[in-house]
Amino acid sequence: MTNYKSLREEMVQNQLKSRGINDQNVIDAFSKVQRENFVPDNLKKFAYSDNPLPIGHNVTISQPYIVALMCQILDIKKNHKILDIGTGSGYQAAILSQLCDSVISIEVIPELADQASERLRRLGYHNIKVIHADGTDGYPEEAPYHGIKTAAATPKVPDAWKNQIIKGGKIVFPKSKGIYQELIELRKKNGSFIEKKHGKVRFVPLVNS
Ligand code: SAH
Repeated sequence: MTNYKSLREEMVQNQLKSRGINDQNVIDAFSKVQRENFVPDNLKKFAYSDNPLPIGHNVTISQPYIVALMCQILDIKKNHKILDIGTGSGYQAAILSQLCDSVISIEVIPELADQASERLRRLGYHNIKVIHADGTDGYPEEAPYHGIKTAAATPKVPDAWKNQIIKGGKIVFPKSKGIYQELIELRKKNGSFIEKKHGKVRFVPLVNS
């Protein structure tokens, strides 16, 4: 039988800590959330491998390190409300839910939204609301957010996201430029945004962007 606990511990050590993930809350969240519950049955043995995995509908569950990096950049506090765009499997939402007060997670593919919502409820993640919608519009009903992160690449940040973030809050997203993408952090300060780059990444495109 696969010892997922020890694979998880190795992942935390070899993929996260060794690459500079040092936010203890992020590390604790990754030590706790069972990634094997978020991948298809036939891929469970690869649940802790250092790469994205296909989850159907031509989309992937993101590489653990990239999920951790986005969480660390967001600098999440216990009282925060976070908007997660691109629910996919729900793994990133589950990680975020350990770090903050509540997570609003938006998925454009109805089957994935339904599956993730059911999975997260079954696994006992009660502070996550999964919405089937186009995340390009953000989710004004629950705004403002302390942080917005997206797991799908866009050449330009939609105005909705900029309007729905609080002063001092951050948007983290993969910016596409031709076939390349770069992980970008935008911090809202005095009504404008300060940009910081965090290296090359690879994500599925944001639909409708
Ligand atoms: N964070 C996810 C990764 C999912 S991949 C996980 O941990 O599994 C990115 C997801 O973004 C896909 O499920 C895709 O369907 C979704 N997506 C793409 N464009 C979107 C949009 N405009 N609104 C909401 N979700 C979108």
